[in-house]
Amino acid sequence: MALRPYIVGNWKMNGTRSMLSEARSIDRSAQRLMKVEVALAPPYTLIHPVHREAEQIGVGAQDCHHEVEGAHTGDISATMLADAGAKFVILGHSERRQNHGETDELVNAKCHAAISAGLKLIVCCGEAEETRNAGNAEPFVIAQLRTSLPETLDDAAERLAVAYEPIWAIGTGRTATTDDIAAMHGAIRALLVERFGEEQGGAVRILYGGSVKPENAREILETADVGGALVGGASLTAESFLGIVAAGA
Ligand code: PEP
Repeated sequence: MALRPYIVGNWKMNGTRSMLSEARSIDRSAQRLMKVEVALAPPYTLIHPVHREAEQIGVGAQDCHHEVEGAHTGDISATMLADAGAKFVILGHSERRQNHGETDELVNAKCHAAISAGLKLIVCCGEAEETRNAGNAEPFVIAQLRTSLPETLDDAAERLAVAYEPIWAIGTGRTATTDDIAAMHGAIRALLVERFGEEQGGAVRILYGGSVKPENAREILETADVGGALVGGASLTAESFLGIVAAGA
């Protein structure tokens, strides 16, 4: 089972309604680039507006709370995201882990909440520069995922994507070498097969994230076991994001 390359834009805390025209352009072009599955994760306030505009692209969120409802001022549940038109949620992004103290256990609880709400998941992992320099990148990332990922998932191939994003590559203009990406994705694949079985775990898409741009996208997307890209800065304009999408087509 080979799924299409999955290119996902993470707008982070960027975007007001004036950016809907970018989403519209991305959506219209995605209709001509059907070899690629294209998705956008705008801020919460734009999920429903982008959902209403989108005919082709998937719309998702950048986080959710781990409970369904309750006294959690300022938080958003997975059920609310689904109600607003979200089809997936990004969980465990390093900015959430670093800035909001999210642990692997919390990310795991969020995965369960998202699955219950019928959302697909993009579970993020990635090491800090010191961890890589100390030679511990692989065991660190695998330990992160062992706890963060759901324990079972019958439809893992369709429901789950994993995003490997070395923290030192996010927003810095630096990218991991293709050898390092291939080695890390191979280790992640082994864990996915161990957990979800050969057929499902073998087909889960493993995205690379960290300063992906139109100029480096093709090389990264052609690397072994790279099933797509999670894109931050370069997803903010239709022009640069579509350059990456075209590289995957
Ligand atoms: C990200 O934060 O998910 C990301 C990959 O950002 P950038 O593409 O800007 O490095």
